[in-house]
Amino acid sequence: MDSNMIIRCKHLIDCSGRIEENVYLTISGGYIAAMDCGDAPAFPPEECIDLGDDSILIPGLVNAHTHLELTLAQNCFRPQPLFTNWIRTIISVTSQWEIDYFSQSLRDGIQQSVACGTTAAGDIIRQADGAAYSEFPLQGRAYYEVINFDSHTADKTSAALKRNLAEHPTNGCMLAGISPHSPYTVSEELLRQCVSLGHSISAPLCIHLGETVPELEFLREGTGELRRFREELGMPPGWTPPKKTPVEYFRDLGGLDRPAVLVHCNYADENDLKIIAASGSSVVFCPRSHQYFRHRRHPVEAMLQWGINVAIGTDSLASSPSLSVLDEMKALRRSYSGVSSIDILKMATLNGLRALSLPHEEELLRPGRPADITVIRVGAGKEEQDKSPLEAIFADSSGAFFSLIGGKIALRSVEREARKN
Ligand SMILES: [Zn+2]
Repeated sequence: MDSNMIIRCKHLIDCSGRIEENVYLTISGGYIAAMDCGDAPAFPPEECIDLGDDSILIPGLVNAHTHLELTLAQNCFRPQPLFTNWIRTIISVTSQWEIDYFSQSLRDGIQQSVACGTTAAGDIIRQADGAAYSEFPLQGRAYYEVINFDSHTADKTSAALKRNLAEHPTNGCMLAGISPHSPYTVSEELLRQCVSLGHSISAPLCIHLGETVPELEFLREGTGELRRFREELGMPPGWTPPKKTPVEYFRDLGGLDRPAVLVHCNYADENDLKIIAASGSSVVFCPRSHQYFRHRRHPVEAMLQWGINVAIGTDSLASSPSLSVLDEMKALRRSYSGVSSIDILKMATLNGLRALSLPHEEELLRPGRPADITVIRVGAGKEEQDKSPLEAIFADSSGAFFSLIGGKIALRSVEREARKN
């Protein structure tokens, strides 16, 4: 259905901080065709979807890092501060899963994502059948993950990756990318091959980097918790540590020659930030996963000061309570007072698109822009109603209840839509 659709909301907030009141958006052919603000234009009521007087329309929410194929692992986890124990649990749980189960888990993850207002995602996929993406409107990038620490079989792993990328450059509305998992699960040789393949076919790279203290120790000294973990899985004879930070190591393998997505960077130091900023790469911060592992304070404020493009991710349900980007925004707001509300909105929308190398413009809500939007409803309490529209987004009671992806309704929650003045 490509005929016009008109939606009305009480407030509209763009990433620039622009706030409009009483907004009528006309949607046509997947794009915002017109925007009227102020008094009601002469639209027949039956042609207009009125989203109510407590609705706040924002650009579509982008979950810049997640593992949707692990969604069904949600109930298998308990707090396990020791990072390697958490990985052991993931391996033990998912080793029982067949491909079909991973695919079902992916479907569940996509449904949950759309249900909480996400319009685009940066998803990591290794086991599931990517055809599942085609069943849903979710946009974004699916990064094919590789894991192999044995340099002798790097060629075989990268050949399979190359085949996968050639056969499935897109799945539904998801473009392809490459994700070597991390510096401690992918050999130096395979990392080089991933970088080279990514550059040769213009497939963006995404890697977990600087996530834990043991990762820093492993790369610098070759010792510690991750060394013991690696020995359990198989340690190639003669391996020596590169004696670098994870960011330096990835840069020296060519990984930052083009902008890449660096997930976490929880323990990036000042020199790492300088390197990341100079490369134009993005960092994805996953606030609630960060809390789950009790990492030290994330350097997100310093990253923003360096001008780094920081986006927001949920990571998987194996370390986060939900796939809601809005809940991540609230968690970030609670713990990092140095990041402004408008910066958080930008991180959850525009910065996510930029990180995933998807089309983006500084102002996403203008006539001519793609109709990817999320609409939030705030609670009815006096406290919420007294807040500015921007602050109301972060109220405990706020939630997404309506979204458009590519101009089509992807989420419409009747309960949340019910109250109108
Ligand atoms: Zn992850």
